[in-house]
Amino acid sequence: MKTTNPRTRFAPSPTGEPHVGNIRTAIFAWLFARANKGSFIIRVEDTDQARLVDGAVDSILESLSWLGLEWDEGPDKAGKYGPYIQSERQKLGIYSQAIDKLITSKDAYYCSCTPERLNELRQNQMKSGKPPGYDGHCREKQLSKGSDNSAKLVVRFAMPNAGITKVSDVIRGDIEFENSLMDDFVILKSDGFPTYHLANVIDDHAMEISHVIRAEEWLPSLPKHINLYKALEADPPIFAHVPIILASDRTKLSKRHGATSIKEFRSNGYLPSAMLNFLCLLGWSFDDKTEIFTDKELIEYFSIERVSKSSAIFDNQKLEWMNGHYIRESDQSKLINELQNYWSYLPEDPFEMDPETSTLVSVLPLIQDRIKTLQEAAPMIKFLFSKEISYDTDLLIQKKMDCESTISALNKSLDVMNQTSPFNANNIETSLRTLSETLNIKPGQLFGTLRIATTGQKVSPPLFESLEIIGRDTTINAINMAIQKLNSYGDRN
Ligand code: GLU
Repeated sequence: MKTTNPRTRFAPSPTGEPHVGNIRTAIFAWLFARANKGSFIIRVEDTDQARLVDGAVDSILESLSWLGLEWDEGPDKAGKYGPYIQSERQKLGIYSQAIDKLITSKDAYYCSCTPERLNELRQNQMKSGKPPGYDGHCREKQLSKGSDNSAKLVVRFAMPNAGITKVSDVIRGDIEFENSLMDDFVILKSDGFPTYHLANVIDDHAMEISHVIRAEEWLPSLPKHINLYKALEADPPIFAHVPIILASDRTKLSKRHGATSIKEFRSNGYLPSAMLNFLCLLGWSFDDKTEIFTDKELIEYFSIERVSKSSAIFDNQKLEWMNGHYIRESDQSKLINELQNYWSYLPEDPFEMDPETSTLVSVLPLIQDRIKTLQEAAPMIKFLFSKEISYDTDLLIQKKMDCESTISALNKSLDVMNQTSPFNANNIETSLRTLSETLNIKPGQLFGTLRIATTGQKVSPPLFESLEIIGRDTTINAINMAIQKLNSYGDRN
């Protein structure tokens, strides 16, 4: 699609932590704007006051920023189409002016039907197998704002009773909706707030949004919106309804499938670049085979025509693989930076002592190929940043060994470690392999004991390199400590 300087928007309702599905939609709108040198706008749709959640706007903006999306106008970035929060726009009378216009042109009307009547109507429709919907009871009544019990009045849009509404969607092509099947929907609620349909249409128009890129679940609302545009004598924008995201069991991606909000993925140790890359491939492809894209390439290659109609499957294993790839490929200083940011983002510090950058520089190459998420790093390297390592003494005793043979192996290791010079991974390895032969035990048995003694962990970076990093003195102290533990353990057992 050839477009110059489009204006796209992301219009979240602040009702909770942003779901990855919503964020993926935001990414498509952002990429389309950036790919075509346009503007990307954020508009907060908070007219459903009952569903508002404190802090949700901040969470949404924080998630987008973390992924590297920047916006040109938004609640925190003034522009000539502001304000960018609908509850603030409402105070300016933007929606009530439109309501007045629609009432005057008879495209909308006041409705005084009580919830009881609407309920009864629905029950009867269900009983007689008819689709539920408003029956137009007040359409010809010409009620006015001051009519009976005015506090309860709502305004409904008068949908055409017959004919067809034709809509066109960039991803889905032309679609026709039978008007008789659509009821007169509410556009102004009794609390004085516009509904999503009205506020959304008015604002997309007022903000000169050229392309509405939004989730497939809004497709059934499209004929309502098209008729609203017509009644308001406004040209509709171009629409693209992007596919829904399903879990691998083909049901809607929800909590029971694991993490669903960007914040959770962040806490679980995913890198923003991997997450952005992964989310882009949920519904969009470049050539059906390329998987890895830098942010710049995404902007360069993205095209809305290559967004698919079919649902996208959220494959957690693929995300993990992709994250591992980004970690492996990352240059060291960038990865250290990511790790430090990650650790300070966590509510609890994973280390007893602040990790020194110089130690991170030595240990990172040892784990970079072994971790798939940032979360896996701290448990592997925390022995380097602990005042004292702790472990269950019985972990020192390897299969087919006992307390006595373990103590003797550790005592011999002490001698060997004292004599190994220079104290580097290669020499340490050679000495310990020779020692295992002398002791007539398997190398794995000796290394297993030493790994616990020096790191306190069953899983650690490679042993010899780890010992080189902690140095001879710390290694010797740790082995002595292990011998002491075993001595009192032996006494007890
Ligand atoms: N506020 C709606 C939502 O949260 C926006 C839908 C749209 O983009 O039109 O999904």
